[in-house]
Amino acid sequence: MIQKVLIANRGEIALRIIAACRELGLSTVAVFSEADRTSQHVRLADEAVCIGPPFSKASYLNVTAVLSAAEISGADAVHPGYGFLAENAAFAEMVQECGLTWVGPPPDAIRLMGDKATARRTVAERGVPVLPGSATPLTSREEAVRLAYEVGFPVILKASAGGGGKGMRVANDERELRHAFDTARHEAERAFGVADVYLEKYLTAPRHIEIQVMGDNFGRVVAIGERECSIQRRHQKLIEEAPSVVVDEELRRAMCAAAAAAAQAVGYRSAGTVEFLYDEGKFYFMEMNTRIQVEHPVTEEVTGLDLVVEQLNVAAGKPLSFRRRPKMVGHAIEFRINAEDPVTFAPSPGQITELALPVGPGIRLETHIYTGYRVPPHYDSLLAKLIVRGRDRAEAITRARRALSMFQVGGIKTSIPLHQRIIQDPDFQEGRLSTRFMERFAAAGG
Ligand code: ADP
Repeated sequence: MIQKVLIANRGEIALRIIAACRELGLSTVAVFSEADRTSQHVRLADEAVCIGPPFSKASYLNVTAVLSAAEISGADAVHPGYGFLAENAAFAEMVQECGLTWVGPPPDAIRLMGDKATARRTVAERGVPVLPGSATPLTSREEAVRLAYEVGFPVILKASAGGGGKGMRVANDERELRHAFDTARHEAERAFGVADVYLEKYLTAPRHIEIQVMGDNFGRVVAIGERECSIQRRHQKLIEEAPSVVVDEELRRAMCAAAAAAAQAVGYRSAGTVEFLYDEGKFYFMEMNTRIQVEHPVTEEVTGLDLVVEQLNVAAGKPLSFRRRPKMVGHAIEFRINAEDPVTFAPSPGQITELALPVGPGIRLETHIYTGYRVPPHYDSLLAKLIVRGRDRAEAITRARRALSMFQVGGIKTSIPLHQRIIQDPDFQEGRLSTRFMERFAAAGG
């Protein structure tokens, strides 16, 4: 049984979790940094505990402070959201050792999938397709060169402990690879504390297609369906949609089977996402994210599920509310609205002086902003997720056009104008997407 959930996060996802808890009749404890004192999650939770100064390391990443807040408030469960401590296996273990329920996957599953080289090897053993590359972290530059000739250039070096689009280097030839090897190891060490890198074949214009999965305590793992997340900048997603225009029922079945096999390989429970690259009819495992994802609402919109409610129920020991892959109905697209310059992508913190939110059929908004809210400079720039839904992709795009034009944020710069331009792009409208979309778009004058 769970009665009181501590939410170890901030922003829109903290509100999303509060919403799910309210529906289930669970009380909530917010934690906040000094920079978030006037945040919505602090107002809306039943209780709130200040856990430290603005800097994340001293607050949202401060394990002792978060666990003390749980203890003081008498919470019996911890939901980590995404980012911050969500994929920290040691934290998940500490939560459990404190006698609290961890609303997430088993710590061992987090640990294994968090090491991308090991994850690759583990799922490959279960027959999940992976890109040709190294089975273990590279031990020398010579090994990297030898492997690169084996799989063929271009190749990509990736940090085993990587995440958030960081720690990746593409090499088009031997000279670039020799140079990239040291840089990649150095960057990995600095960003993640572990220098291990591995290598795989680099696809020049693949699609990023991922599968949402959910597992419960009764051995059931259901692969729920795909999201297409090809529109990225600097390897970070900007727009996500479900379903993908290139996935037919046969491919969906194959990708879902592969995703379920990957999840089962690590005894998965709770919500997770298996990410694949798709190219010329084939798909390849990239990594598994062992948390609820930013883009989970597009899946919810086309399936009618509430994935956060499912997470809480699974954590409380209940079975999943569904046995089989639900049918996807209609089409949903999510736009990440960031506090940033729409051209240079430079962060744009500051006070929101005016706000008008989109309304009408097919609109869902996940946001923590309000008029007068001051966007702090210390965190991720995500302000809102605008999710539009239509009977088909064309109707979803029409609704996106309407919603984006109604969405007015004064006082700071946002990515709304960028999204307005993207949805007018003929390639976007026709669904001709790849992870290089934004490069082409920017080069064409965006
Ligand atoms: P992270 O954990 O940092 O998000 P991923 O492994 O998920 O890293 O990769 C993020 C993005 O990098 C992918 O969506 C894709 O755009 C690009 N990418 C990663 N591996 C490859 C590859 N082998 N070929 C082409 N692009 C890749």
